[in-house]
Amino acid sequence: MNTNELWQSVLGELELALSKANFTTWFKSTFISDVNEHAVVIGVPNMFTKAWLEKKYAKEILRSLSEHSKGSIKSLSYRVESRPTTPQAIPLFEKPKVEAPVSQASSHYQPREEVREIRTGEFSLNGKYCFETFVVGKQNELAHAAAQAVCAQPGGIYNPLFIYGGVGLGKTHLLQAIGNELIHKNPSTKILYITCERFTNDFIGALRSNRIVEFKNRYRTVDVLLVDDIQFITGKEGTQEEFFHTFNQLYQNNKQIVISSDRPPKAIPALEDRLISRFECGMLADVGSPDFETRCAILGTKCHEKQYSLDREILHHVATVVQTNVRELEGALNKIIAFHQFKNARPTLETVKPILSSFQPATSRKNVTPKQLIITVANYFDVHLDDLLGKSRQKRLAFPRQIVMYLMREEMKASYPSIGTELGGRDHTTAMHAYDKITGCLLEDEKLQHDLELIKQKLYAL
Ligand code: ADP
Ligand code: MG
Repeated sequence: MNTNELWQSVLGELELALSKANFTTWFKSTFISDVNEHAVVIGVPNMFTKAWLEKKYAKEILRSLSEHSKGSIKSLSYRVESRPTTPQAIPLFEKPKVEAPVSQASSHYQPREEVREIRTGEFSLNGKYCFETFVVGKQNELAHAAAQAVCAQPGGIYNPLFIYGGVGLGKTHLLQAIGNELIHKNPSTKILYITCERFTNDFIGALRSNRIVEFKNRYRTVDVLLVDDIQFITGKEGTQEEFFHTFNQLYQNNKQIVISSDRPPKAIPALEDRLISRFECGMLADVGSPDFETRCAILGTKCHEKQYSLDREILHHVATVVQTNVRELEGALNKIIAFHQFKNARPTLETVKPILSSFQPATSRKNVTPKQLIITVANYFDVHLDDLLGKSRQKRLAFPRQIVMYLMREEMKASYPSIGTELGGRDHTTAMHAYDKITGCLLEDEKLQHDLELIKQKLYAL
């Protein structure tokens, strides 16, 4: 077994154990860089990943390495090193090392710079929107998989591909990633990325200036048509008609069409039935809001792209506060970076919190009752409701009980006496003690931080 095979087995195991977003973000660019008797050096793309892996996954990685090497690997260290890439893929931030070991796995986080300029000018595609920089979570994995399937076989079964979902959730990113990927695979592919608005304006302009033949030639001779924000086509009959014919022409010639929209075809008001049925005849895939874990992974990726490192605690905080969409998440990060670069200081929780205040949702979160909170915590720790409220001081009950008290105080701003009452008639000092204790634990216990995040997610998803 060579080091590559060994690492692939370890990755295979980790991939099963972790969420996709986490795995992609933290492990995809890693490789075994060196082996010295019983010690392995893992090559990682940056300090941020190094710190994260050391802190979070050291045990799992070592256990798996040891297992797959039949016990011969006994220790582990990390080194920041660019990963070997194929000759034409030039890493964005680091110079490739000639002597770096060869790896079979595909490269990540390294948009190919030399192609980027051509793409941007000629096809109005932005090279930074590629698959490598797209974090996959539960909410977008279908759209992501469909987008990749389109790249594997343009004009195939996923034609048209219709991606829909709220603002800032990665639709444009995916559309452009398809364009970038296809151009990369075959630079002679004719790709047209266009917003619906631009299509409409082009069409109207062509009508006015008697250039309709040119217009038709431009749109009907491409190999791949990527139309962003199709919902803006509503109500414009002439444009809808023209788009319908464009669509048919391309479709009949097995050319790939990818469309994005803020809602599914049926929900687009005043969209002609014949267009609805065209849009629905291929693949519909939605993108939703990222959950906490995916938000963390996205922040990690963005930090990586910007070569900026944020402590885990801060990263968690940002992911907790900014929940709406990825664009806001990125905006928050940019603000944090700009502020601290300006001040020439390291971000801390204290300096970051005020920056995020504008991202706090205007209306406070959905109201939940103490009862709902208690049930959620009981379910989360798999304990009986009666036991949780009861007298027993066993740790497996006392701890969840303290968490309930902490959350009541923190999330619902309940008074200590009322917390005591809700929890089976306890004294208010018990509630105070619980609040202080959990607050203290949270400062250093990462698992607990994570547990609380999940509990809150479940709670507010009720
Ligand atoms: P939409 O078109 O759905 O409004 P965009 O594609 O413009 O959203 O995404 C907004 C920003 O968020 C972009 O900078 C994009 O790169 C980023 N983004 C969205 N989803 C992801 C994701 N899953 N992984 C990484 N970045 C993302
Ligand atoms: Mg968009």
